[in-house]
Amino acid sequence: MLRSFLSAVVIALLVGAGPAVAEGVALTFDDLPTMALTGDAPYAEATTKALLAGLRRHHLPATGFVIADKLEGDGGVAQTRLARQWLAAGMDLGNHTYSHVSLNKVPVQAYIAEVSRADGVLRPLVAAQGRPLRWFRHPYLETGLTFEARRTFETWLAAHGYRVAPVTMENSDWMFALPYDDAILRHDKAGAAHVQRAYLDYTERVVVWYREAGLQLLGRRPDFVFLLHATRLNADSLDQLAAILRRQDLHAMSLDRAMRDPAYKIADDYAGPDGDEWLSRWSRTLRKDLPWKSFPEPPADIAAENDRLDPSP
Ligand SMILES: [Zn+2]
Repeated sequence: MLRSFLSAVVIALLVGAGPAVAEGVALTFDDLPTMALTGDAPYAEATTKALLAGLRRHHLPATGFVIADKLEGDGGVAQTRLARQWLAAGMDLGNHTYSHVSLNKVPVQAYIAEVSRADGVLRPLVAAQGRPLRWFRHPYLETGLTFEARRTFETWLAAHGYRVAPVTMENSDWMFALPYDDAILRHDKAGAAHVQRAYLDYTERVVVWYREAGLQLLGRRPDFVFLLHATRLNADSLDQLAAILRRQDLHAMSLDRAMRDPAYKIADDYAGPDGDEWLSRWSRTLRKDLPWKSFPEPPADIAAENDRLDPSP
């Protein structure tokens, strides 16, 4: 009896279960300067200001992935100012291509030209503040249909000092973002509060799922890399998001630090149409299933509202 109790304790310690062991989480925000229903400059400014203030208030380091063409052309000067505010707030910036194309949809050389063009916009911006530019995130998490495309692109990335920023936690925040913007822009306070409540409730359930899925897959919980977007919804929800991380024993860390977790050395040689996050990729490599049956469904009313506002596939 005592022996089996002790071995249960030993197992719990080995897998890192129990409330005493907190794992890390690196927050990453895609589609900078902002992802919004409106191109309105004051809306983007207010979003950026609130997002950065919230991150600083809760001591949350973050990496923002910029769509570089937003910093050029009409409104480019104002958008560039927003990107600079991220650096001034101590956050890192990464490359998210020039115009948010998918490696699954364009030839690899055209994709490299896109990323290189974004590099030309972003590198002087970060260098002016003495900061590095080392992270790349694939739009749609689409990493190439063939091994050849993957290898060609990733060789180029490495030669230019970039590392791929994987994703091991995500909450479909983009699906809630436009319905929230829509409610805010219509001054519909009750509507905005409804979307925000649904978003936070869903986020907490998904975070619980990812922690459990990581444990099942690896026998311990890894340091996570959380994909979010630079939206008004996240800007207005930072206090509650920070509370969710605390409740779930996740302590914030830089992307650099999270990536030191040995889990990120697991091979990912998937080539194909799915824009999967990395737990799914590792589950292929390790030939172990993830508990998809218990994955929380996003609320149907929010999904329908998002489809109405953003009919693009
Ligand atoms: Zn994106």
